[in-house]
Amino acid sequence: MILFKTAADLGRHLVKLASGGDSIGFVPTMGALHQGHLSLIAASKKENAATVCSIFVNPTQFNDPKDFEKYPVTIEKDIDLLEKAGVDILFLPSVTEMYPDGTGSLPVYPLGYLETILEGKYRPGHFQGVCQVMDRLLTLVKADNLYMGQKDYQQCMVVRLLIGYRRYKTRFHACPTLRESDGLAMSSRNQRLSAAERQQAVAISRALSAIKNDIAPGSTQPLLTRAEEFLCDNGFTVDYVALCAAGSLEPVTAWDGKEPLVALAAAYLNEVRLIDNMLIP
Ligand code: AMP
Repeated sequence: MILFKTAADLGRHLVKLASGGDSIGFVPTMGALHQGHLSLIAASKKENAATVCSIFVNPTQFNDPKDFEKYPVTIEKDIDLLEKAGVDILFLPSVTEMYPDGTGSLPVYPLGYLETILEGKYRPGHFQGVCQVMDRLLTLVKADNLYMGQKDYQQCMVVRLLIGYRRYKTRFHACPTLRESDGLAMSSRNQRLSAAERQQAVAISRALSAIKNDIAPGSTQPLLTRAEEFLCDNGFTVDYVALCAAGSLEPVTAWDGKEPLVALAAAYLNEVRLIDNMLIP
């Protein structure tokens, strides 16, 4: 694995690779890696001659400064995992390398409705930050294929929109959510949970599974209320539990029994905010 810390060095190497006709797969991350990240790398390795992974904790996508400060950093372990996973190139930039002109006047992206709901509503500015970092990374890496996790369902939609808006040639791949054996979605933020919180955390995937199992045509509100109560009973403070059309994220209040849905939840266990989602069917 070759490690690059500057955009210029990365760019020079990638030009050489691309001129040889090698297809490039790209997996952007914020580090504190787990099996979920490694599954994206495996998907990229299967379909590309070279796989690039980036680790960058992007300050512009954190609406809560405390969340940014406490974001887990395990860089030595990450490098070891990436080496073992067979990643070809690791891009590990600094903030000034990513934003040479500072973060004060970065572009604003027309995200429309997507920015007003769910994560967009509860984390104002978050998806602008996601677009700022992804725009820069996609310009630098010029990947043929981009692999991101369905765990961040709305983020996948935002990045798809960005790719279209900026006319990148990169193909987007949404990969399934990897879970712990009890169902908890793998997440770097899980590392911040105490042993007791870790036990409680599984309630978020149980709440979504219950919605998935119990849903029937008609009003969705009783299911959502029950899920929210279940999370509160298990020590969560809920931002949202929602049932939305899988393609648009428009809320679905009365289900026709046919439309593909996604159930999504975001909730705090003390200071740690967890998100999860499940597709229905
Ligand atoms: P992050 O480091 O949290 O920004 O995540 C980097 C990428 O890994 C994003 O595309 C995430 O959606 C994806 N990811 C995070 N958790 C999981 C998971 N449990 N399963 C699959 N992909 C994941």
